[in-house]
Amino acid sequence: MKQFLFITDLDDTLVPQNPAMAVDNDPAMVKLNQRLERHRQQHATKIVYSTGRSLFLYQELHKKQKERQKELLQPDILICAVGTEIYSYKDKDKLTLNSKWSDHLSEAWDRELVEKISAAFTKLKLQPESEQRPLKVSYLLEEKFAEQIVPELKHSLLEQKLDIQVIYSGGKDLDILPRKANKGMAMTFVRENLEIDVAQTVACGDSGNDIALFADREEKGIIVGNAKKELLDWHNANLNPNRHLAKAKFAAGIEEGLEYFGFLEG
Ligand SMILES: [Mg+2]
Repeated sequence: MKQFLFITDLDDTLVPQNPAMAVDNDPAMVKLNQRLERHRQQHATKIVYSTGRSLFLYQELHKKQKERQKELLQPDILICAVGTEIYSYKDKDKLTLNSKWSDHLSEAWDRELVEKISAAFTKLKLQPESEQRPLKVSYLLEEKFAEQIVPELKHSLLEQKLDIQVIYSGGKDLDILPRKANKGMAMTFVRENLEIDVAQTVACGDSGNDIALFADREEKGIIVGNAKKELLDWHNANLNPNRHLAKAKFAAGIEEGLEYFGFLEG
């Protein structure tokens, strides 16, 4: 066994959003956390959470899990807001934003113009203020409209020469980000900073914003058994031996994948 870089999405990958399912997932999550924590102590394995949530909503989840006595691990690095913000723990409990990453993304990003163009799409509903980030504009969009609206929106934004990408995820979240930002690019940035080899890196996800963790990549990928249609469709159209579609759901699916790739002993 040796050091690896473990990156996982949170909602519906490590932790189910549905409260009843969260209770069912608890034993598997507790077991996985124990195994990862032991690996971190013994082999300096790095644990990274990569979430669509803002830091504010991440902290809400952290608090909720603590109240349930099913705490998340303290990650070595936290990637928030769909790869647009990277935090690390400088002191024990103090999170510090990586300004090198933020500065890199800020070049060629025009938030005001993105908002102005998107405002013409009436099916888009703005997400709460806490989720509007300096480098991310976020809406809710009903799944039934997505197939029509997403390409039209992309077209309008790109027509204005905006250097952006549009990510639709979980059948509801629509995020507009700088083109250079997504969970995949943030993973590369973090991996290179930690100087960990691609072959010793594994990422886990369940939905559309996780595709960037898996597309055209040499890192290993784990898709949990409960993954959303948008990710499963993409996976089936782009099969790759570096990617494992788990039979098990949520935390048990992650553990299955880590054993499949030999990061944890089976
Ligand atoms: Mg998710």
